[in-house]
Amino acid sequence: MAGNNLVQLNNENEHDIMDVINVLSTKYYCIVRINLDSGEVSPMHFNTSISVESEIYVAEQIDSMDSLLTFLGFGMAEEEYNRLEETLDLDNIRIDLWDEGVYERTFKWSGMNGDYYYRLNFIGVGEAPYNNVVLTVLDVTERRLAEIENRKNSRIVEALSDDFLAIMFVEAETQNIRVYRAAKEVLDRYGSALTTQKRYGDIIDVYVERCVKVSKEDAIYKYRDFNTLMEEVKEKGIVSFVYNRVLGEESRQYRVKVVKIEENGEFLGVVIGIKDVEDEFRKDKETQELLQNALDEAKHASESKSNFLFNMSHDIRTPMNAILGFASLAGKEVDDREKLLDYLSKIESSGQHLLGLINDVLDMARIESGKIDIRKEVVNLEQLFNEIVDMFRLDMEAKNITFESTLNINNKIVETDGLRLKQIVFNLLGNALKYTPEGGKVWFEVNEHPSDKPGIASYETVVRDNGIGMSEEFQKHLFELFEREDRASVTGAQGTGLGLAITKRLLDLMNGTIQCKSTVGEGTEFTYFVRLSICDADIADEEEEEIDMSLLKGKRVLLVEDNDLNREIAKTLLEDVGMIVTEATDGTVAVDMIGEDSSSIDVVLMDIQMPYMDGYQATRIIRNTELRTMEHIPIIAMTANAFAEDKKKALDAGMDAHIAKPVDITELYKELIRLS
Ligand code: ATP
Ligand code: MG
Repeated sequence: MAGNNLVQLNNENEHDIMDVINVLSTKYYCIVRINLDSGEVSPMHFNTSISVESEIYVAEQIDSMDSLLTFLGFGMAEEEYNRLEETLDLDNIRIDLWDEGVYERTFKWSGMNGDYYYRLNFIGVGEAPYNNVVLTVLDVTERRLAEIENRKNSRIVEALSDDFLAIMFVEAETQNIRVYRAAKEVLDRYGSALTTQKRYGDIIDVYVERCVKVSKEDAIYKYRDFNTLMEEVKEKGIVSFVYNRVLGEESRQYRVKVVKIEENGEFLGVVIGIKDVEDEFRKDKETQELLQNALDEAKHASESKSNFLFNMSHDIRTPMNAILGFASLAGKEVDDREKLLDYLSKIESSGQHLLGLINDVLDMARIESGKIDIRKEVVNLEQLFNEIVDMFRLDMEAKNITFESTLNINNKIVETDGLRLKQIVFNLLGNALKYTPEGGKVWFEVNEHPSDKPGIASYETVVRDNGIGMSEEFQKHLFELFEREDRASVTGAQGTGLGLAITKRLLDLMNGTIQCKSTVGEGTEFTYFVRLSICDADIADEEEEEIDMSLLKGKRVLLVEDNDLNREIAKTLLEDVGMIVTEATDGTVAVDMIGEDSSSIDVVLMDIQMPYMDGYQATRIIRNTELRTMEHIPIIAMTANAFAEDKKKALDAGMDAHIAKPVDITELYKELIRLS
């Protein structure tokens, strides 16, 4: 039995036994001799200086196995006691001795001051089959506790090292490696190397050569030299570095941690832990990439926005400048009728342009905030497309651009938002016109395709030009807000870069799709698809009604408007058709006037935003007083609050109609005729 202090005794030297025992016995709690045939027990040594907590038995009283059991088992927990009883069974002792003639068992006593451990050594006397046995009892509490502590520590190391591919200790003096833990993959791959070559220097060279992509900058390169590694660890306590482990095609990031091991100030060596950090590394990289992309995008968006503001400022100032400039010129040329008319038409077209710009910006803002609804109304597609083509024909001709259009539509009457559809085609044709130089060509084509669903047809619209085209890089951002391609050749073209962004978003809302093919210098082709419900052909044939202006003559209108200029324009338009206009500059004035004599007014045109009292409140007060008089004066909102929800708000306040500014004069007259 390795590590056992007692040598096997034999019968011939029995007289020596006592000598041996005397030398060794100071360490033993007790030593007895057992006769396996008779069961007689004779004490050989008791050491009372090694004490258990309660010593009630004296050596002389122990003469049988029973008394030995009582003595040794005193204070033992039941389970341990049972084990001891079994161990002291004579037959069992005989069997256990059989093989080697010696064996040991350890038992635990739980005392008031903690646990004690005793080791029982059975040593056969003479040769097998043994008749006599010497039993020694040794206090191993300290050793046992240290063992338990060790086991606990190694468990902790194991638990902590789960993440590590390998953990090893390298002894400073010899460079010898002891591997504490190695993942299966490490053992499979390097197991043989680790068993044959056990010195750091031998292993690392082979390893680095085979599996590491080394450049002189890599830390692992310099740590191939054990002394360098030692010196650095000695100084810093911990050295940590990362390297790329390459195996065939695969490359993974490994991190190495080297920790100094010291005892009582003596440097013993280092523990090296190797961890696979590829996944962590990848995750980090991905997160970093995501962040970078987000940052780039944010930067790009903010650049586009400042470009937009710059362009907007320019784009608004240009027509504004024209309006003010021509207005002042007109003032100087009142006597030259021809010049005056020319200036006025320029003022009007600049105004129209400005309005278009403002509408685009507002549209975009509303689309972005989800406030635009696609309406469903009966639309004659053929009529709609022809109207647009007719409008563009003049502009194309003016720029000497050949304009070809083809409509292959079978089902002309469909349900869709006509205004939005027009806006889409307008943007595309407008671009083709803008970005095709003089003498170029523009094609417009609409094709109807049958769809798999009855009652639905698919319409393909193609707008193609042989103009300046777009770079591939730009095409990636084509449908983003405020994007315009920077090109010297088109500095003259007006625009804000909203047209296509709006087009795309409107098509999204209509469940449509749009694609673009373009080559710089060759031209551009936009194709969009929408699927629309087909309607009966006769629903849409509404006749445009003629309006009879004479009906307005002599009608009395109260014009409520705080802005002097707007009031003047409206007054002139109304008086032009023979209406009698009374003016009010805000809601309170209007309420007073109607309160005094409502019968002198046929209809009210009401601005919404006004000082003191706005149009909604004024209307509510008027409607309230009417509850008593049982009258109803028609009130038409005429306001720059032009959106659908503004209209609803006006009607909710009790108004009868809503007209958006800038005012479409024909629409205004129509409503006045209908209501007054
Ligand atoms: P607006 O808001 O007034 O429409 P815009 O025409 O500049 O201004 P978009 O219609 O959104 O804006 O077009 C964005 C950009 O795409 C244009 O500035 C132009 O650079 C490019 N582009 C669009 N259509 C064409 C085309 N047919 N040929 C060449 N470039 C085009
Ligand atoms: Mg455009």
